[in-house]
Amino acid sequence: MEELLAAERTRTLERIEALNHDRDGIIDSTVSTGVDDEHDPEGATIAFERSQIESLLDQSQRHLSELDRALRQLEEGGYGTCESCGQPIAPERLAARPTASTCIACASRR
Ligand SMILES: [Zn+2]
Repeated sequence: MEELLAAERTRTLERIEALNHDRDGIIDSTVSTGVDDEHDPEGATIAFERSQIESLLDQSQRHLSELDRALRQLEEGGYGTCESCGQPIAPERLAARPTASTCIACASRR
């Protein structure tokens, strides 16, 4: 499980790096062409692409912090325990979603 989480963490970090790179690329092209976001149709596309990338970045960063938490719990104990009711999380659920922090019953109550 630890290996799986560590591998996923590496992949997520790479993804964040690639997304940062893409975002920087978009910013660069905006600067060099002097596109006006509000009046140029191309500017609107760029703004859209940028917001897509930023929401992906946001997701990846959240995923990364979930992975960090899971890895810390593996080390310090508490991994696989529902943070809401304290019951063990079903192994099938952890297999499908290694960063799950609540059991199926608590997750479906939300
Ligand atoms: Zn629970």
